[in-house]
Amino acid sequence: MLDSIVARPTQEQPHRTHRQVPVPDCALFLGVGAASAAELGNAACVICCEDTPWLLIDCGHDTLARFKRTFGSQSLPQAVFITHLHYDHVGGLEQLYFKAALGRQKVRLYVPVQLIQPLCAMLAYTGLAELREDIWHTFELHPIGEHFFHQQLRLNCYPVRHQAPGSAFSLHLPGRFFYSGDTRPIPELLIHQVTQGEIIFHDCVASGNPSHAGLDDLLREYPPAILNRLCVYHYHSQEDVQAFDDAGIRYAKPQQLIPLC
Ligand SMILES: [Zn+2]
Ligand SMILES: [Zn+2]
Repeated sequence: MLDSIVARPTQEQPHRTHRQVPVPDCALFLGVGAASAAELGNAACVICCEDTPWLLIDCGHDTLARFKRTFGSQSLPQAVFITHLHYDHVGGLEQLYFKAALGRQKVRLYVPVQLIQPLCAMLAYTGLAELREDIWHTFELHPIGEHFFHQQLRLNCYPVRHQAPGSAFSLHLPGRFFYSGDTRPIPELLIHQVTQGEIIFHDCVASGNPSHAGLDDLLREYPPAILNRLCVYHYHSQEDVQAFDDAGIRYAKPQQLIPLC
């Protein structure tokens, strides 16, 4: 199924690890759009191990439909990391709950601790009348501080700059990838914490605004060594893509398999 849908990279795949613990080797963006860019999809990314979903980052309105188109009609993500609580990133959680609960499947939900109370409030009215359970019997809530373990690998979680302080978070698997979530530029994080040559998935639109990094912001704030590792997403349109091309900044496309470091 995956072969028929995704655009595979032309370069060689990285060497497979011989460690016993599976290590993610590629990322697949289900959507790359800003909140209003419906045709580009809500920004959501599947971190994969040998074409198998390992961790979904965010679950927007259209994320489950795109996940099923990519990985098969019966498939649901088994683990989701939430970067923040804007609906283009969590609007699909209710649908995920319904499908998982009816299929008697559990879904592990990794949520930064600062977001747990408001997320519980957002999902307070979600439920199935025929089950004498609440959603937290289906969603296995996993509170995150500065780091957490998933599939025996340790990932880091840092606050980023997206509206209210402490309301949006990034995800970092050292040596493999950094995922910014929605943010303004964060040179202090990228220069001091993301130091192992990781690919950096970064929020970017052609013209920045108080919530999101713009292309000019990135070119001003980041040194060439960081710019060369960027792969931007959460953009608006083909005009944004043209601006990225003109600036020599790599960008993610929907359904494209992107090798990790
Ligand atoms: Zn967003
Ligand atoms: Zn946002």
